[in-house]
Amino acid sequence: MTEALLKYFRTKEQEVKSEKRYDSQCPYCSMQCKMQLVEQSVVSRKKYITIGKDNPTSEGRLCVKGMNAHQHAFHKERLKHPLVKVNGEFVRVSWEEALNHIKENFMKIQAESGQNALAVYGSASITNEEAYLLGKFARVALKTKYIDYNGRLCMSAAASAANQTFGLDRGFTNSLAEIPSTRCIILAGTNIAECQPTIMPYFERAKENGAYLIAIDPRETATTKIADLHLKPKPGTDAVLANGLLKVIIEENYVDEKFIQERVNGFEDVKEYVTSLSIEEIEKITGVPIPLIRKAAVRFGKEETGMIFTARGVEQHTNGSMTVRNFLNILVSTGKIGRPNCGYGAITGQGNGQGAREHGQKADQLPGYRSIENEQHRNYVASVWGINEEDLPRKGVSAYEMMEKIDEGEIEGLFLMCSNPVVSHPNAHFVKEAIKKLTFFVAVDLFVSETARLADVILPASSYLEDEGTMTNLEGRVTLREASFPCPGEAKHDWQIICELARVLGKEEYFSFSSAEEIFTELRTASRGGTADYFGITYERLRKEGGILWPCPSTDHAGTTRVFERSFAHSNGKAAMVVVPNIPEIPKEQLCDEFPLFLTTGRVMSHYLTGVQTRKSPALAARNIEPFMEIHPVTAAKFQIPDQSLVKIESRRGSVVVRSKWSETIRHDTIFVPFHWADSQNINLLVSKKLDPECKMPGFKVSAVKVSPAVDFLT
Ligand code: SF4
Repeated sequence: MTEALLKYFRTKEQEVKSEKRYDSQCPYCSMQCKMQLVEQSVVSRKKYITIGKDNPTSEGRLCVKGMNAHQHAFHKERLKHPLVKVNGEFVRVSWEEALNHIKENFMKIQAESGQNALAVYGSASITNEEAYLLGKFARVALKTKYIDYNGRLCMSAAASAANQTFGLDRGFTNSLAEIPSTRCIILAGTNIAECQPTIMPYFERAKENGAYLIAIDPRETATTKIADLHLKPKPGTDAVLANGLLKVIIEENYVDEKFIQERVNGFEDVKEYVTSLSIEEIEKITGVPIPLIRKAAVRFGKEETGMIFTARGVEQHTNGSMTVRNFLNILVSTGKIGRPNCGYGAITGQGNGQGAREHGQKADQLPGYRSIENEQHRNYVASVWGINEEDLPRKGVSAYEMMEKIDEGEIEGLFLMCSNPVVSHPNAHFVKEAIKKLTFFVAVDLFVSETARLADVILPASSYLEDEGTMTNLEGRVTLREASFPCPGEAKHDWQIICELARVLGKEEYFSFSSAEEIFTELRTASRGGTADYFGITYERLRKEGGILWPCPSTDHAGTTRVFERSFAHSNGKAAMVVVPNIPEIPKEQLCDEFPLFLTTGRVMSHYLTGVQTRKSPALAARNIEPFMEIHPVTAAKFQIPDQSLVKIESRRGSVVVRSKWSETIRHDTIFVPFHWADSQNINLLVSKKLDPECKMPGFKVSAVKVSPAVDFLT
């Protein structure tokens, strides 16, 4: 297919003189599709076409984002030189000037206010090597406890739930190749057709093989359209719906008693709780009719094999981790885990959502998924790093809590790597005002993002086409992304920037790396013996084998295709079920006369995260040039909102103006707005600061709002 496309372009463009091909990997979602960038020299210019490359995960497929990813990498607004703000304007400076300016300010802040007055904020889009190095930089070079990253806003609920239920968090417990052979699949809060389009054929093949697909989503989407059964719960009630499914499964005896007896703790408490619940009450809370709850539960329970997938739709809530745990309760009680064609997958959003949470960027973690509060773990990592255990800081706070500490003045300086918190965080106006209060702020990015605009120094980073390193996809498969081009201008790789900064801060001995591979070699040792053990993975093997699923404890180990076959990762070897309260999320965000609609947020296919890269890609920007508000025509009539008109959406936190889009398929009490736009179109201005107490995930998916025609805006 892709070769045919190339042939078409060749015949249409007879002037093509020569062609070069570069192996690469898409920088966007967690499928991490392998690709080739084809550079064609024509008479007066170079042109680029991206085609898919065969590999075990995406099997040569690409979606529209991957096909156009090179457009942002070659964009004329790419940062090519360090910039320092002078009298409110960014001025080009040399690297040494920029680094010395940072050194002076960082040292002054720490001398006056202590080591924890500096903070580091990372990203789940950077490579494993860079995520690892950033964690080491915070703890060894800056000696601060404050480091966290944007994955906190994405994958933390699923990670926390998997760790608590299974004792280990690998995005998918199996490889994708098993999906087509499973008999029943629950897709809870995931719109894979828009967010990870190249995964879709696995589910389509499962359907062709007779699998029954159950989708759980308040909206009708391209994903729910392929489902055999679509449950549309009220936003924020997924945990209650899972209780309903579990109640039917237990009462109608679809549990796997042998599996429970041998491999599960906590079942009896859950059984006692869910059987005491009223199914009528569950119907009332969720809005899902009892016959549909029963149909879904019986189907999942009675099939011999089954899988459950969750994503941000059920995770980005202030009870997200408990919601996922309740879906895992279903999986574990039916014994559909640890054997062929049975398992759990958290469909990770960001490109390195899996790897970036394993090697030390999280506030409470050390490499290999070790805990920063565990003495044995601290001693091991300190020995790898060549420092004393007592010099290793303790755990810090989560991403949004760091913003609160900035607002309170406890954090005065920030080193931000490839992230855009003023757009991505909830309560976004507060976050922007907090960041403006920083005494000194350094941003590393490809572009002057909405957050980088507020920085004192911006350092130019490398894009996916220039930056070699490993990424870990949604399966837990470690892959190597080769570099294709040199960095433009004076831009540097993120790992080089960290090493250079460590050098001027006098910590060169801990950061004397001259390649990504050297960093990976240290990462392998630092992860050795941890739950996410990469020790057996090498660049040489990745080049030869294409990708390896962790844990891989030795160089002669093939990697682990399916986890939990014999035991779970808790010390007793058992999975831990837990009672999940039968209450909807955030009582204060329940509908009321003043705020009568639920706002839920999400993605569109052509954009990625806060749009810093995809809004720079003309082909992607053209598909969705602005955000929109999806609203049912009945609801729109009630609030006098014509189709395609400007509408003001208000919550207790603020307001935005976007264009309306009538949709017959959304619930009458819910509106949907995508989150890829900034400034006055940033929907996160409306989202509450309340966090999940377990994992500190904000509640992006439920805000109580009101809507009205944007009359003020027009006059
Ligand atoms: Fe593949 Fe995801 Fe990139 Fe699309 S966005 S090409 S599905 S990695």
